[in-house]
Amino acid sequence: MNHSKRSGTPVTRSLKVALAYLVVGGLWILFSDAAVEQVVSDPEMLTRLQTWKGWAFVAFTGVVLYLVMLRQFHRDREMLDHQLGQQEEIRRLSQFQQSVIDNANIWINVLDPQGRVLIWNRAAEEISGFSSDVATGSDSIWEKLYPDPDYRAWVLERVSRILSGQEEVEGLETTIATRHNGERAIAWHSRSFLDSAGRVAGSIAIGMDVTESRAAESALKARERQLSTIMDNLPGMAYRCLYDDYWTMKFISSGCRELTGYQPEDLVDNRRLPWSDLVFADDAANVTAAVEDAIGSAEPFSVEYRLHRADGQIIWVWERGRGVEDGGGMVLEGIILDVTERKELEARLSEMAAIDPLTGQFNRRETERILQEEVARAERYHRKLAVLWVDLDHFKNVNDTWGHAVGDEVLRSISLRLAESVRTVDTLGRFGGEEFIVVLPEMSVDEAWEVAERLRGRIADEPVRVSFGMALDLTISIGVAVYPDHADSADTLCNLADKAMYQAKEQGRNRTIVFSGVSGSTESGEIQHLGTPAGKSDGA
Ligand code: GH3
Ligand code: MG
Ligand code: MG
Repeated sequence: MNHSKRSGTPVTRSLKVALAYLVVGGLWILFSDAAVEQVVSDPEMLTRLQTWKGWAFVAFTGVVLYLVMLRQFHRDREMLDHQLGQQEEIRRLSQFQQSVIDNANIWINVLDPQGRVLIWNRAAEEISGFSSDVATGSDSIWEKLYPDPDYRAWVLERVSRILSGQEEVEGLETTIATRHNGERAIAWHSRSFLDSAGRVAGSIAIGMDVTESRAAESALKARERQLSTIMDNLPGMAYRCLYDDYWTMKFISSGCRELTGYQPEDLVDNRRLPWSDLVFADDAANVTAAVEDAIGSAEPFSVEYRLHRADGQIIWVWERGRGVEDGGGMVLEGIILDVTERKELEARLSEMAAIDPLTGQFNRRETERILQEEVARAERYHRKLAVLWVDLDHFKNVNDTWGHAVGDEVLRSISLRLAESVRTVDTLGRFGGEEFIVVLPEMSVDEAWEVAERLRGRIADEPVRVSFGMALDLTISIGVAVYPDHADSADTLCNLADKAMYQAKEQGRNRTIVFSGVSGSTESGEIQHLGTPAGKSDGA
């Protein structure tokens, strides 16, 4: 400091002051006496003057001494006050550091270069159960914390690397044994520190007790594993996707592979293609509407649609999900199942309910349903509609002569020929036995008669080929009734067409008769058309 430099040691400084006093005093006595003796010659006067001079010297030096001492005492007091203040400050600072170290909820310990504990804070005591007295100043704490020798060797190896400055650890976890036979997981941050000469003075370690969070983490992991096992074994596929135009997938369970043929990672974040590309185009609007409705009413949705698989196959899926708010945005969560088999079964069942198994044409029920629809449509649009009632002539003979199986073949063959001879908007149905109905929308009486004649001609002109190379000559009789000319209900139209057909039978078969007469009166009415070859026919 400045002070000590200027003043030197107290002894030399005091000696210098004393020497200076001696020299100044000696010189004063020598020269002042000589000077006075020159001026005054009276011895009495000289003695008195010498005495006054002595007193004056004492008074002067006394004043100087007083001033010097006063200054010095002031300085000393200032220095003392300063030092006391510094000491107080240091004491407060170290108290603060100690309390920070002690009250920190984290384990803090400091090791000396030999690995002995210097500082062991309160949290270290609380977590480990070992007091600061037990931990500091000995090596035995390591055996207590890490009883397993191999594990301890591994930990001490880490510690010595830290102490040698070779390593710093951040978040290294160890499991310590506590005094009360418990175990705690501690995550360590540790590094060495240097003294003022730049040598390693020890290491400082901060440990965080992560036992609870590790336990919670492992419980969470176990739950995640459990959930993912459930997800993976779900029939079908679980998903989480954004509510956007692409149904951008954020999570897809592994069931995706079996369902779509794509890997989940192909679809997540639209990496290879978005889910929307998989949805069959005709069904896309349907899916969107179902989801929109459900989200609007905060309900779950269920929707069935077709899906393009990776192998090009189209499958039917059933999706059930719901919208979930997720950080301000909407996401959808749900499952998707393959319902192709069920859909096919349904289709087969409804086909079975509508199709005659022998001929493959519509059965009676379905034909009646279609006829009713067509009558309603004709009524709505003020159009005409014709019904043909077709019956095979002398069909019993075929059965009787060639057997029932050949009869079946004939039915199949004839129905096929009839079906090929009508428009796609027309409907052919087997009404039972060897009777068929043809529904012809938008056909007048004349047009219907022409169609009937064409059908009759196609059967009569070409023999029906059946097994064993036989060709059977067959004919049909046809009755015609037209909406709204003859009747305005499906039932009555059928009835009247049937009646007209009976007239054709009566008149010799292989002919077409258009119903003539008022609905409900079979006997009356005029002849309207004649089937070949008989030409015009009476309404009986
Ligand atoms: P018609 O000219 O008067 O109509 O004489 P038809 O012999 O055709 O007489 P009808 O209409 O009364 O006889 C229908 C016959 O059709 C009776 C039955 O043996 C036969 N039949 C009905 N359904 C089937 C069938 O599914 N298969 C076979 N092979 N024959 C059937
Ligand atoms: Mg019949
Ligand atoms: Mg018949």
